[in-house]
Amino acid sequence: DVFKAADDRYASLPYRRTGRSGLDLPALSLGLWQKFGADYAYDTQRDIILHAFDLGISHIDNANRYGPPHRAAERTLGRLLRRELAPYRHELVLSSKAGGVFGPNPNLRGGSRKALLSSLELSLRDLGTDYVDIFYHHTPDETTPLEETAGALATAVKAGKALYVGISNYRPDRAEAIARLLRAEGVPLLIHQPRYSLYDRSIDRNGLADLAVEEGFGLIVYSPLAQGLLTDKYLESIPDGARAQNSDFLKPDQIDETYRSRTAQLNKLAEGRGQSLAQLALQWVLRNPAVTSALIGVSSKEQLDHNLEALNGPEFTDEELAVIDEYGVH
Ligand code: NDP
Repeated sequence: DVFKAADDRYASLPYRRTGRSGLDLPALSLGLWQKFGADYAYDTQRDIILHAFDLGISHIDNANRYGPPHRAAERTLGRLLRRELAPYRHELVLSSKAGGVFGPNPNLRGGSRKALLSSLELSLRDLGTDYVDIFYHHTPDETTPLEETAGALATAVKAGKALYVGISNYRPDRAEAIARLLRAEGVPLLIHQPRYSLYDRSIDRNGLADLAVEEGFGLIVYSPLAQGLLTDKYLESIPDGARAQNSDFLKPDQIDETYRSRTAQLNKLAEGRGQSLAQLALQWVLRNPAVTSALIGVSSKEQLDHNLEALNGPEFTDEELAVIDEYGVH
């Protein structure tokens, strides 16, 4: 059956300008880190991605290592790009990343030209596309000269294999340094991808949010729901199939009494505002003017619909922000 995207797909989701570039990104973007590998049903993955596109989420975030196994999430998306999404490639903003831990070969990780550019070739092959829209260095690598990393990112753009470049998980001083190097290469830094949620406010404290505004790059923030901790799902127990049940990155021992009592207070605040905790948490990251887009993960279409409602919440009052400051970790 032929997929035809909804005609009104750009009617409601707001788009925001990425720093001082010309690129607009949807306020919510979809990431394929978890449950888009070989470990989850393809039909569900396809339904989620196509549903997201129908709702205006044209930006899909990926990386060479997303799976399991590594590369699998780019293959999942590649299947869709060869069929259902093929007519829409020009509308999509697709990202890939390289430089994170990736297998035993010492040269296929880190920020070297070799790691970045050979990974990009494989990503293009698996995605079945000639270019990605955003190519990121995934994880800072202090053992490789920043000039080499910046040069590799610039090469990707000059070779037509990426339209823009980004960095992820960089501290502000390194971000500032690579932004300068990239500018000298004639390839401005488009975007930085840090973690940010009301349970992790480091970008507000360490100067990264201010730097983004000064330097003119965007921020796309990951794990705005703290991987699901900022929803009501873990208040009583760990539901079957939830990430905390089976993940190297979210462990059941993070769900302790302190977590539960703090989260219950935030949940109460959300209820008083007529929304869910997930919606409150997403609205909270998007209130920050340095943030271009919130990068969410979902394991069902229902979660996606639910999370999009965050864009319709009432503005926060000062009193509500004070309660969030009291119970959110910072
Ligand atoms: P979130 O904080 O949004 O967590 C998403 C998870 O929370 C979902 O997979 C789902 O997990 C659960 N969830 C989502 N919505 C709801 C809901 N309404 N009710 C209940 N549970 C819900 O983001 P992620 O941690 O998934 O990160 C998002 C993206 O950011 C990634 O896909 C990736 O693209 C990027 N990222 C980048 C990193 C980097 O180093 N650059 C690191 C981490 C992420 P479940 O149902 O399975 O419990």
